[in-house]
Amino acid sequence: MSIAHDFSQQTPAAAFLARPQQLLIDGRHVPSVSGRTFNSLNPANEQVIATIAEASEADVDIAVAAARRAFEGPWRTMRAAERGNILLKWAELLKQHADEIVEIESLDAGKPIAAVLRQDLPAAIDTLIYYAGWADKISGEVISTRDDALTYTVREPVGVVAAIVPWNFPLMIGMWKLAPALACGCTVIMKPAEQTSLSALRIGELALEAGLPPGVLNIIPGLGRVAGEALVNHPDVDKVTFTGSPGVGRGIMKAAAGNFKRVTLELGGKSANVIFDDADLDAASKAAAAGIFFNAGQVCSAGSRVLVQEKAYDEVVDRLMARAKSLRIGDPLNRATSLGPVISEKQMGTILDYVATGQKEGASLVTGGERVGHRGYFISPAVFANVKHEMRISQEEIFGPVVSVVRFKDEADALRIANGTVYSLAAGVWSRDIGRVQRFAKRAKAGMVWINTYGYTDVRLPWGGVRDSGLGREHGTVAIENFTEPKAVWMNLNV
Ligand code: NAD
Repeated sequence: MSIAHDFSQQTPAAAFLARPQQLLIDGRHVPSVSGRTFNSLNPANEQVIATIAEASEADVDIAVAAARRAFEGPWRTMRAAERGNILLKWAELLKQHADEIVEIESLDAGKPIAAVLRQDLPAAIDTLIYYAGWADKISGEVISTRDDALTYTVREPVGVVAAIVPWNFPLMIGMWKLAPALACGCTVIMKPAEQTSLSALRIGELALEAGLPPGVLNIIPGLGRVAGEALVNHPDVDKVTFTGSPGVGRGIMKAAAGNFKRVTLELGGKSANVIFDDADLDAASKAAAAGIFFNAGQVCSAGSRVLVQEKAYDEVVDRLMARAKSLRIGDPLNRATSLGPVISEKQMGTILDYVATGQKEGASLVTGGERVGHRGYFISPAVFANVKHEMRISQEEIFGPVVSVVRFKDEADALRIANGTVYSLAAGVWSRDIGRVQRFAKRAKAGMVWINTYGYTDVRLPWGGVRDSGLGREHGTVAIENFTEPKAVWMNLNV
């Protein structure tokens, strides 16, 4: 059985997909130095949708040199307001090409197109507009020290930035990195995930059309262990901004030590969504289901553990099961689809292995957890009840549509379980007791706490975590600090 349509040549993305997909370096499409290519598959039907030039170390060298020239040249010296205007023009082009971009993203990442239209693309555009506005508002301060001196700070762009992006939100997470870096006057080499390079290549073209000077944004598809490693080891890269797995993040920190690159890491999570007996159980269960099944669970902040107080436990499990069963698994290009495939055969295998592990560990699989169809990487949404906190399915990031529902007794128990993994990215809490939710928000080990809701993000709010969830924050004013360095200036007034 094949769930997805075969790709039709009549769609808005057809012209783009029919072109050879090359690297975008120094404002031009170029083949890779080695001539090597790799394929991108549609996860919904396993068909090859594009053959893409594969960057290696030699291409990274060329891209970094181009980014360095652009940094020292036009981008850094351009009036800040003009930089902002180019980013705004880019945002306009993204709006004009919305149908094409969402289709590319949906085909390449297997994401339901309705969700890309509703969330990924609008969030990417919002991010771009937000940071376009920042471009001419970055300032230092005058700091009084002594009477015979004028002492002040300026904020200067960090320099050449390597942006390494995952496959779960290629467009949105890509823009979380590009927009602030470019607004601050940095130049960028972006390496998309090898599974999902296409939206990056298309928006890179639109950036050139918007007037971004050559070399300011270079897109180099390629493999993590080849192009990714070459980028993070490159001595002329000043900063790495990365989203992906903790293992790769650790390697990036080590590699960055070579020339003391600045590093921002957004890694995984095993976030707890905590539901107390007195919560609005209908709203909490709906949000808990969306919190794990959105994007087939491939979300760093997914509420992959739902912690429920004893009295409400059975009701929440039943409601989660009903929500899971109501999801419409299907062709991501169909606007009625709410659950698409996972990204790859490998990821599907990992998720199904975790389902088997959960059963072996003694948890009760109340629904889902099976492959759907024989083509495409579809998994039915899974709910595990009677999960013990120590089980692997409650400790490890599965990154798929699998939720572990854990029982707790009281506030202390909830907090102990919620904080009891190596991750600290997000947490949710549901209760009508205002003191209790505030106590939880204070003590939760998380970069983001949602109270009586789950999953909202906004580029104006800091985003990220600590421990195995990462280092530093993205978004908001923090990102402006990430992509600039303060310089102190001391002027003697007695000469
Ligand atoms: P990954 O960390 O291997 O890949 C993320 C990005 O890093 C990709 O662009 C990849 O090419 C690049 N990369 C890989 N190895 C690299 C290296 N040695 N040096 C530099 N760059 C490198 O993630 P994955 O294998 O695609 O997914 C595995 C797990 O990572 C998932 O199951 C999930 O737990 C986690 N993940 C988290 C997020 C998130 O949003 N935090 C996103 C994707 C994956």
